[in-house]
Amino acid sequence: DARERYPHSLQFYLEPPTESISLLEFESFAIDRLKLLKVVENLGVSYVRGTDLYKTKLEAEFRKLKFLFLALAEDDYEARRKDHISHFILRLAYCQSEDLRRWFLQQEMDLFRYRFNELTENLRQKFLEHINLSFEGIGEDLKNELADELCASTPGFNMSKVKEQMFYKVGLADAVDLFRARRVFIKDGFAYVPLKEIDVIVLNNYRTKLSKALALTARSLPSIQSDERLQPLLSHLSHSYVGPDYSIQKNTGKISLEQIDALSVKSFPLCMRQLHRALRDSHHLRHGGRMQYGLFLKGIGLTLEQALEFWKKEFIRGKVDADKFDKGYAYSIRHNYGKEGKRTDYTPYSCMKIIMSNPPSQGDYHGCPFRHSDPELLKQKLQSYKIPPSGITQILELVKGMHYQLACQKYFEFTHDVDDIGFSLNHPNQYFTESQKLLSGGRELKKEFNNSGNFQQKNNSQESINSSSTPTSSNATADTELEGLEAYFTED
Ligand code: SF4
Repeated sequence: DARERYPHSLQFYLEPPTESISLLEFESFAIDRLKLLKVVENLGVSYVRGTDLYKTKLEAEFRKLKFLFLALAEDDYEARRKDHISHFILRLAYCQSEDLRRWFLQQEMDLFRYRFNELTENLRQKFLEHINLSFEGIGEDLKNELADELCASTPGFNMSKVKEQMFYKVGLADAVDLFRARRVFIKDGFAYVPLKEIDVIVLNNYRTKLSKALALTARSLPSIQSDERLQPLLSHLSHSYVGPDYSIQKNTGKISLEQIDALSVKSFPLCMRQLHRALRDSHHLRHGGRMQYGLFLKGIGLTLEQALEFWKKEFIRGKVDADKFDKGYAYSIRHNYGKEGKRTDYTPYSCMKIIMSNPPSQGDYHGCPFRHSDPELLKQKLQSYKIPPSGITQILELVKGMHYQLACQKYFEFTHDVDDIGFSLNHPNQYFTESQKLLSGGRELKKEFNNSGNFQQKNNSQESINSSSTPTSSNATADTELEGLEAYFTED
């Protein structure tokens, strides 16, 4: 029965769900958990884990996302079910590459650590028994008897702390790390582990199990990939981010081509600034760059006519003549605007998509510089963009920890001279919008007509970015179609 299925609020997620669920529920569960893990990642980098501030912030975010957050003492079947199913869906989506697995494992570990530490002593004990890590809490008598030894052998403990904290008797095999680090008292083949160190043991255990499970899931991928309902969803989730998809442009026609150079310095994220510079320097971008940059420009409000003019002017300054441009490249630009082929209105790429797919090769300028640049080159680039040395150190640290979007957030803070970016970055177009908001003191972009009369009246004020929009299977379809398009334009 339902209660038996989830006897505890916390889980090691050992058994996959077996019930049938609708695709709608499948997707919404997965997106909620992805949002949660993104928050966990953000907070884990910005605050010291386990501190009151960290916990307060995390709890507030959990509430906002309407996700299970407390010690979960209450018997909440629906919440437990959602927690269980959503974990397994993301496991499927995030087992597909080493990068994805590492990211998922880290966030799930942090999430688990937070929840485990929130459990009451009683629930913690029950949970340990449930997962067969039943360590026995030692009684007051034994504790008093061993008080001197416990105090001397447990770093950071004095007599009063020994008195107030619970100690557990743990077999040595489970406490090897603590034993090696001389953090526990050992007697007769048992380690006496204080409560605050028990989470280390449980987390190690969880990490081992989860990373094995991810490797196993990855092996069963071929059978999942043959499921035509699931595959687009899963692949979209792993490239996904949670926020508006910028497919509807609020600012269409509000930017003139003459503004782009200045905007690229002030308000473009590093990936787009790099693409713009490369385009201006070499009057050409290879396919991956045209797709990434072209859709970004569409997202910031360039109309189709402006895009055609922009790319053409630049390309014909290089090796492409006007005729070749009109016959080849113009088609792909119109295609991006949904005017050719299947007439899909293509969505600008999110950070996840840029970071996770299609890495740049020699001669390419697309991708995410925080993910794909050599650290030394990235450092030089940041120096040339006048990021102060302390900022560069912080950014490179984040890059080293593989927190590419957070590194980008730092870049935003330094280029905009703000202490706290105040939003969680998921999308290059979001970067642009936030930058413009900040630079114009919260106002929208001013509407401007460009000199060549390219201003289009149609997409103005009635359309707005739908801030609650989330990736959907139709986006996934769009992605697949885009891949087809990419194959069509092999020409560099
Ligand atoms: Fe671009 Fe996103 Fe990378 Fe920033 S994190 S450089 S916006 S892809």
